[in-house]
Amino acid sequence: MNIDMTKIPSPCYVLEEEKLIANLEVLKRVQEESGCKIILALKGYAMWSTFDLIKNYLPGCTASSLYELKLADETFGRENHIYSTAFREDEFDEVCQLAGHIVFNSVNQWTQFSKKAIDSGASCGLRVNPGISEVATDLYNPCFSGSRLGVRPEHLKGVELAGIEGMHAHALCENMADSSVALIDAFEEKFADYIPWLKWVNFGGGHLITHADYDVDKLIGRIRAFKDKWNKQIYLEPGGAIGWCTGPLITSVLDIVPTDGLDVAILDISATAHMPDVLEMPYRPTITGSGEAGQKNYTYRLGGTSCLAGDVIGDYSFDEALTIGSRLVFEDMIHYTMVKTTMFNGVRHPDIGIWHTDNTFELVRRFNYEDFRDRLS
Ligand SMILES: *Cc1c(COP(=O)(O)O)cnc(C)c1O
Repeated sequence: MNIDMTKIPSPCYVLEEEKLIANLEVLKRVQEESGCKIILALKGYAMWSTFDLIKNYLPGCTASSLYELKLADETFGRENHIYSTAFREDEFDEVCQLAGHIVFNSVNQWTQFSKKAIDSGASCGLRVNPGISEVATDLYNPCFSGSRLGVRPEHLKGVELAGIEGMHAHALCENMADSSVALIDAFEEKFADYIPWLKWVNFGGGHLITHADYDVDKLIGRIRAFKDKWNKQIYLEPGGAIGWCTGPLITSVLDIVPTDGLDVAILDISATAHMPDVLEMPYRPTITGSGEAGQKNYTYRLGGTSCLAGDVIGDYSFDEALTIGSRLVFEDMIHYTMVKTTMFNGVRHPDIGIWHTDNTFELVRRFNYEDFRDRLS
């Protein structure tokens, strides 16, 4: 890592511009060589201070709510797509004003809103459920048994689809190219009767295209084959892949307390508030220069600064003893982390900054008391 730590406040999420550009170059190649369009899913990455850069590579965004749609329109302002698990009647006029593509999750929703959506000039689509099982954890698997996401093939029979121009099949999460291929294969098999009538097909997100092990050429080949066969516009809408491994959360030690077990280093961040997937997913984040418990000389349990007893990140070992003020660098804390943070317990929210390609640091956001107060009443 080439970040100069002395220039970074703590705690702080630091987006490394160079790494973001490297990801965007991969996505650009996929678009150029496969003929698909890749749009940014704000759900997974919404750092709009970088959108002027991203606009050079991607043609638009996809939103999953009215507020994400407004943010996409205001800060990106190109193709605006929206899918919602359920649109609200009292928001739908505004959705129609802003969205160029509107995707419905059910036949009911399509029936309820089709007239307004078509009259607005938007291109309408239906989310379908291809019933694949490429995601092991149900929390992240749109196709688990009983999932509410997307229409299954058996529920499409006899449905009035006049006005539907696209189908949307989001069924992956942090998957490699074999799963992208499995999704396209399954869609083609289960929805072949409908494809000739469509203008576009959106194969959703969860394609972890920018992961070092993702076989980009395999994806390109499969999309080209689909296009050659059907001649449709293809969209992908990854979120995580845009911000994948684009920067750390820099933290520091505020205290070290003895317990009846391991000594606990209390950090100036909170797992539950600032890296919630550590508890929710759950997973063990990587800390630069650390080892498993017992592997290096000094082992600590790392805890957050909230009052939640379980606000614990995990047990890590280090070559040197930690002291108050020691810096710890949590890797890959940009995608899905920043979008999910909360102000729980009023603990200081990390700053957000950019480490630019010219090796300068820009502090883009510092959160303050008013931010905490204004989301309460
Ligand atoms: C979550 C989601 C995405 C983005 O998925 P990533 O895993 O971040 O690539 C795209 N489309 C829909 C409908 C989603 O729910």
